[in-house]
Amino acid sequence: MANIYPVYCRLSLVLYLGKLRITNKLEFHLLFMDKIRKLLFEIKKRGLYPDIKVIESAPYPVVIINGKKILMFGSYNYLGLSVRPEIRQAAIDAIKKYGIGSGGSRLISGTYDIHIELEKELANFKVEEDAMVLSSGFGTNAGVIPAIINMFDLTKYKRWFNQDVIFSDELNHASIIDGCKLSHSYDVVYKHKDINDLEHKLSKYRKRRKLIVTDTVFSMDGDIAPLDKIVNLAKEYHAMVMVDDAHATGILGEHGGGGSDYFKLEGAIAINMGTSKTFGALGGFIAGSKDLIDYLRIACRSYMFATSMPPVIAATILAAIKIIKAEPELRVKINSNAAYLRDNLQKMGFDTLGSETPIVPVLLGSENKAIKAFQFFFDKGIFAPTVRWPAVGRGKSRIRFVTTATHTREDLDRLLETCCEVDKILDIPKKL
Ligand code: PMP
Repeated sequence: MANIYPVYCRLSLVLYLGKLRITNKLEFHLLFMDKIRKLLFEIKKRGLYPDIKVIESAPYPVVIINGKKILMFGSYNYLGLSVRPEIRQAAIDAIKKYGIGSGGSRLISGTYDIHIELEKELANFKVEEDAMVLSSGFGTNAGVIPAIINMFDLTKYKRWFNQDVIFSDELNHASIIDGCKLSHSYDVVYKHKDINDLEHKLSKYRKRRKLIVTDTVFSMDGDIAPLDKIVNLAKEYHAMVMVDDAHATGILGEHGGGGSDYFKLEGAIAINMGTSKTFGALGGFIAGSKDLIDYLRIACRSYMFATSMPPVIAATILAAIKIIKAEPELRVKINSNAAYLRDNLQKMGFDTLGSETPIVPVLLGSENKAIKAFQFFFDKGIFAPTVRWPAVGRGKSRIRFVTTATHTREDLDRLLETCCEVDKILDIPKKL
């Protein structure tokens, strides 16, 4: 019999290459969509696709969803400022004067007198030389970290590789993680709040330029970073410190100034990032030295190439800072509400993780339990967001209650009673 093996091999090769060509020519975009559909199908089949509720009212502690009154424990409207009459009035006045949009980026056509006024006020509020506002908190981290690490080189020689090292807490917010990725730097992740681990890792890079970056309040656990110890280590190892005060601004510290105010570290933290959560508005900011801010205005891409904060938002933040300064009792109220909820949850045996702030999680464990818990609470008229992988590690799903200054004792007691009822059905794990 004739040897047909070489013919067979050639035929197979021709068919294989032919298939590749067809794929190349026609189907690459379909392959992406094919993969997306398969992923979606699998996620929905496992019941993991989030059930996003549509709110039909202002973010009061009681909101309207599907025409039904729901007690909200998931809003970052921490001090209730977004619905305050003074803030609404500031917004109305600003809209009358400026309209809605800013019309462009800060460098080209979008810098307004009210931006400058807000930046002066923020610098004053954070006890820093200067400040700069951006239209998004996420964008602030995603733009500022690369601007610090990838400093442009005015010589014509390019650096072959980036020698700078970023030290980042393992539970830092996604926007910090993305900022680090965009930096193309060498990232060293240290164990959550673990000063010994951080020191050990810093000591390995003595000759490199170093940036330590951390959330002040960790958004999934509600615990506080040891900023005082981090700043001391930074001094010893000549590192720069950046803190994300998204959940600390207006809440922590004698004057509500955030991490630096709470730890009495004014002037010791080089880069103070914040967001507008407590201001009840939108946007991010950086406070620091004048040189730092002057530099970021020409190096931070999310500042330079994005439409600036609408003047109406700047006006509401200015009004919010006024209230935060004038009404320290709001901070007392939010922190005592959080302590009341946390203490009682702990007495009931629940694991509130490391919470020390208005973010009070209860550990559930499995992803499935988290999905069921959200629905149980919702059926009882309570909005209690659950957080699951990939926002937290697998098996570390949790309900995350956010307490505000506008919750009453009755609201908190109703939540605690509902926790008891949900526990009977779901058997929430207890801390031994
Ligand atoms: N940092 C932290 C710690 C956050 O929790 C968030 C928002 N959840 C951000 C940054 C992003 O801020 P914004 O929502 O204002 O974009």
